[in-house]
Amino acid sequence: MAPTHVLRCCQRGLSWIPVIFIALVVCWSYYAYVVELCIFILYFAPFPVVYLIFFHVSFVMFVWSYWKTIFTKPANPSKEFCLAKAEKERYEKEERPETQQEILWRAASSLPLYTRTGAGAIRYCDRCQVIKPDRCHHCSACDMCVLKMDHHCPWVNNCVGFSNYKYFILFLAYSLVYCLFIAATVLQYFIKFWTNELPDTHAKFHVLFLFFVAAMFCISILSLFSYHLWLVGKNRSTIEAFRAPIFRTGSDKNGFSLGFRKNVAQVFGDQKKYWPLPLFTSQGDGLIFPTRLVSADPEQATGTLHPEPTKSAAEVPASPLSESQNHLLSNDQHGNHAVGHLANDTLNSVGTDSITISLESES
Ligand SMILES: [Zn+2]
Ligand SMILES: [Zn+2]
Repeated sequence: MAPTHVLRCCQRGLSWIPVIFIALVVCWSYYAYVVELCIFILYFAPFPVVYLIFFHVSFVMFVWSYWKTIFTKPANPSKEFCLAKAEKERYEKEERPETQQEILWRAASSLPLYTRTGAGAIRYCDRCQVIKPDRCHHCSACDMCVLKMDHHCPWVNNCVGFSNYKYFILFLAYSLVYCLFIAATVLQYFIKFWTNELPDTHAKFHVLFLFFVAAMFCISILSLFSYHLWLVGKNRSTIEAFRAPIFRTGSDKNGFSLGFRKNVAQVFGDQKKYWPLPLFTSQGDGLIFPTRLVSADPEQATGTLHPEPTKSAAEVPASPLSESQNHLLSNDQHGNHAVGHLANDTLNSVGTDSITISLESES
């Protein structure tokens, strides 16, 4: 077995340690609350059925959303974003960056793309050999391009992105509810510990640690949860919050924001009854995202093309694919704008002789 393969296997095994740690803490918290507190300490008191019902509801929702966040595979760009075989060979053989960009611009002319690199080039992942859809980034931990990548989370040993962002938010929400509920109901017994009113058994130490652990997790989760709620309201990923996406009109941190209600609906869906459940209800396919720039950019809105005279018609796509030709756009009301936008970009950029290439180096 090659040493790099062994190293990779070891890394994969070690990456599960945070998840195992959380799972052990959760199992212990279940035992400490149900057995040690509710049975051993509260046995002679009126049995806390209400406590137990609420505890189990929050426990099940927490475990369900945590499970879905961990085991939902990150969504990757579809095959439409890969270069055709001949183009890929040409791209790999080509040493001049500007010609490589021309190949990418031509390939991207039928794709709905709004964003580019800082230098105005097509975002291309050399590692995955794919044109990156808007909001897609390469995760070095997963070694793949992930649609609407938010961040790679070691606590779930998975990439948080388009396919599991809703689950991740719910995981934070239910873990907060779970910890808050434990902390609130254990507080009185925690106080009794210090006044020596609890039976002198090992159960009282479980109660002591239960409160400490729940309170500690509450504080840390609360800040992360608040931050992600704010991101959902603004329609930004964590990556975009740190580095604003770059559009034709320049970088714009609010480029994908459509207003609070629509932003929330994009992650949680239209039907409020499904919001609290870790079921996939996010809007779209992760490849196309409507932007607020459609109305801000007159050329984009009209979709008019301005070919540069320096390029022949054969080199520059005369017109982008129509809506019916491209199934990626068939269900998207902004599709035509996206194509019109890209076509403008294509024509302007291909017509420019000095294209600087700066492919993103994302972690
Ligand atoms: Zn990649
Ligand atoms: Zn990842």
